[in-house]
Amino acid sequence: MGHSERYIEDVKQWFGEFKKQFKHVNNKELQTKISSFAEFLDSRDKERISTDLLALHEQVKKLYDTGVRFAEEVGGTELYQEIRRVGIGQHTLPPLPYDYDALEPYISEEIMRLHHDKHHKSYVEGLNKAEKMMEKARDTGDYDLLKHWEREAAFHGSGHYLHTIFWNVMKPKGGGMPGRDLLRQINRDFGSFEVFKRHFSEAANKVEGVGWAILVWSPRAGRLEILQSERHQLLTQWDTIPLLVLDVWEHAYYLQYKNVRADYVKNWWNIVNWDEVDHRYREASKLQWKQY
Ligand code: MN
Repeated sequence: MGHSERYIEDVKQWFGEFKKQFKHVNNKELQTKISSFAEFLDSRDKERISTDLLALHEQVKKLYDTGVRFAEEVGGTELYQEIRRVGIGQHTLPPLPYDYDALEPYISEEIMRLHHDKHHKSYVEGLNKAEKMMEKARDTGDYDLLKHWEREAAFHGSGHYLHTIFWNVMKPKGGGMPGRDLLRQINRDFGSFEVFKRHFSEAANKVEGVGWAILVWSPRAGRLEILQSERHQLLTQWDTIPLLVLDVWEHAYYLQYKNVRADYVKNWWNIVNWDEVDHRYREASKLQWKQY
């Protein structure tokens, strides 16, 4: 497939999603724009007009702007957030961004098929199940199995999110060096690219049992760090941002509450600073990746 055919295919796929997102929205201006865009695409197909990509791109931009304006002004933030949200238990397996054999000889086609189609898929399914079961607990007020489902949500959630990053941080004929800005940061934080590479490789080699080596950006420290993750998680989901945290180590309450942690937890709600949590939410929700 040439570049222009691929672009047109991408546009068609995007338009399909766009229609889906706005299909229940009863706004004349928006619906008119959607049908005229559909006609525009159709007529190209039927009459085999060789598509003027710039013209197509202009149309795409206009429709996109209308959608965004509608979501922000007419529909309000609520609709916008709804559109940008993966529903509970609705995660999907992202497609590999290249062919299964594209990373050969470094990673075989057989591994990629198993790893993506079987392993990653089972993380997606496990995460969906855990989310639905936790929703059920909220609905029924029965939290007896919560520990189990939290564990599952962490394991499968981290599995899903990390693999989604993993496929995309690889490509055929990759390697080489990071871009200018990241390289400058690496030099600042590790001394040199060579030292970074050595540290990252050692971290990967020394993970106890199964897990990951992970280069992270710390918004708090304002620098890069290299971490290991045993298995995927230890009850966290990687690629999420903490908003509200409660310390339940004994040192946080034992002197006062002895072993009655529940009283401490109950009382703690009286001292939550929601301004700060609001602030963290506002900042954190600006960061949005493509959804799966
Ligand atoms: Mn894996």
